[in-house]
Amino acid sequence: MGFQRTNGELYCESIPLTAIAAKYGTPTYIYSRTELIKQFSKFDKAFKENPHLICFAVKANPSLAILNQFARLGSGFDIVSGGELQRVLASGGQAGKTVFSGVGKTETEIRLALTHGILCFNVESSEELSRINAIAFSMQKTAPVSLRVNPDVDAKTHPHISTGLKSSKFGVPWKEAVNLYKEASGMRGIRLVGMDCHIGSQLTDPAPIAEAASRIIKLVDILHTEGIELDHIDFGGGIGIRYGNESPVTPDEYVHMLLAKMGRHTQKILIEPGRALVGNAGVLLARIEYLKKGEDRRFAIIDAAMNDLMRPALYDAWHTIEPVIMHRGIPVEEYDVVGPVCETGDFLGKNRPLSVRPGDLVTILSAGAYGMSMSSNYNSRPRAAEVMVDGDVCHLIRSRETFDDLIRGELIVE
Ligand SMILES: *Cc1c(COP(=O)(O)O)cnc(C)c1O
Repeated sequence: MGFQRTNGELYCESIPLTAIAAKYGTPTYIYSRTELIKQFSKFDKAFKENPHLICFAVKANPSLAILNQFARLGSGFDIVSGGELQRVLASGGQAGKTVFSGVGKTETEIRLALTHGILCFNVESSEELSRINAIAFSMQKTAPVSLRVNPDVDAKTHPHISTGLKSSKFGVPWKEAVNLYKEASGMRGIRLVGMDCHIGSQLTDPAPIAEAASRIIKLVDILHTEGIELDHIDFGGGIGIRYGNESPVTPDEYVHMLLAKMGRHTQKILIEPGRALVGNAGVLLARIEYLKKGEDRRFAIIDAAMNDLMRPALYDAWHTIEPVIMHRGIPVEEYDVVGPVCETGDFLGKNRPLSVRPGDLVTILSAGAYGMSMSSNYNSRPRAAEVMVDGDVCHLIRSRETFDDLIRGELIVE
């Protein structure tokens, strides 16, 4: 395990979290390298000899050190912006293993992706298809394209992270997909290479994932009868993780389900996991500034806030919060764990029984995905440091921001 207790004290691999706080301060994101590798390998090994490419969803955690680690394991990448493409390249990842998703690709981003030779564009509309065709044609290139089909299944997850319903902005409607493929097959700037879907995030129930996979494969068969052959099928990401008492589908079960659905189909399988690769490989370490007794509740005010980890404020997400050192003899009280930001929504957890004192270190678990990547400078708070632990070595992978970082690029008007 990446994080475990020895004599009541929390460690990342062989390093006590107290040592990390002493050296790098708080709040700090801590990642276990062993855990990152382990998660990737679980997916990778489950495919056995079947042709596949795991495309890590960069938005879940775009730190260069993390992208570099996945690149070294042979990973591809799923990006949603030109900035993410540049991060992949800067980290040592390959454009040729990168798929480009997202509903709003700009002309500049499309040119950048074509210049670097990405694996494919995951196209989300006929309008985008026309734009890519025109740009590719003008650059005397053919753009590799996959259409993101909206399979219209209910992913049964939080509405804000559900993307596969008819009502969502993502993808090409199921009913229009065949026609759009036929249209695309006649475009001189387009080369059809795949089909993709992505129905939502933090999916724990395998049924909607399986249903979406069936629908996509059925559509690939229909295209075959129309004489359109594809190189790959991309089943997207969205595999859930355990934050509390969830029991999500395991990487093994997930991959076996996909292989079973594929049957005799020979296309390469792509998947785009984000959270499942990094979520439980990271924690946010913070320190308690004050314990405050309100009229009808107690608050543990810590030095991390919604700007560091937005998920609780944004969609009421639940993260386990634990003291780094388990004390004996301090009464357990129920606390709302909050940050210093001036918003009522600034909380990391509510009604948490904790046995803590002011000055104690606490960890917010399962913070490796959509933690640092969603952080901001709200309230002029410098963003946290990030470290990666590898056995008994702790590497700083991103320095804590300074005041100079905060005001960089700003100008005062005379
Ligand atoms: C966000 C996203 C992913 C990754 O989602 P996870 O839930 O982190 O696995 C994959 N593909 C696309 C298109 C996405 O938008």
